[in-house]
Amino acid sequence: ESNLRQIEALIRAVPDFPQPGVVFRDITPLLADAGGFARCIDALAEPWQGSGVQAVCGIESRGFIFGAALAQKLHAGFVPLRKPNKLPPPVVSVDYALEYGKDRLEARNDALRPGERVLIVDDVLATGGTLDAACRLVETLGAVRVGASVVIELEALQGRHRLPGNTPLHALLRY
Ligand code: 5GP
Repeated sequence: ESNLRQIEALIRAVPDFPQPGVVFRDITPLLADAGGFARCIDALAEPWQGSGVQAVCGIESRGFIFGAALAQKLHAGFVPLRKPNKLPPPVVSVDYALEYGKDRLEARNDALRPGERVLIVDDVLATGGTLDAACRLVETLGAVRVGASVVIELEALQGRHRLPGNTPLHALLRY
């Protein structure tokens, strides 16, 4: 609990970014703090120890930072789920709706083995569109979703209810 309070103290609330009325949660002070970042990765890993995670899928771009460190901690590989047109072909992709417009996540078509046990990671769960798309992408690749982890869940946006029903979700901090 005091661990979590120390982590929380390293997340900066930025009012009216990127738009008026939005409070942006800035995780860069947490990354810059050696002890805080290490404690964060330990706490993210804890619920998944012994669950046989073989690959951590990180969502571009802040999910790469937490996901790569978490993969090391869990002795798993790391697979980037990327924004469109960043990966060389062949790729598989999933489209998803944003508040204004559309976006897409892509992975190498051979990035995961069928049946491989996967944990999906991002920094923030807001409306859930991004994490839901990541879940569908992992499914398209034939892997097994062990669960998903985020550092921060913005509870008021109800994102967790948008995820496929059988997806265990762990959030370190909730606002
Ligand atoms: P969603 O698809 O759940 O609405 O939005 C989640 C995505 O937007 C995540 O990839 C996350 O990085 C980004 N995001 C949304 N709100 C915030 C925020 O307040 N802080 C940070 N760091 N990222 C956010």
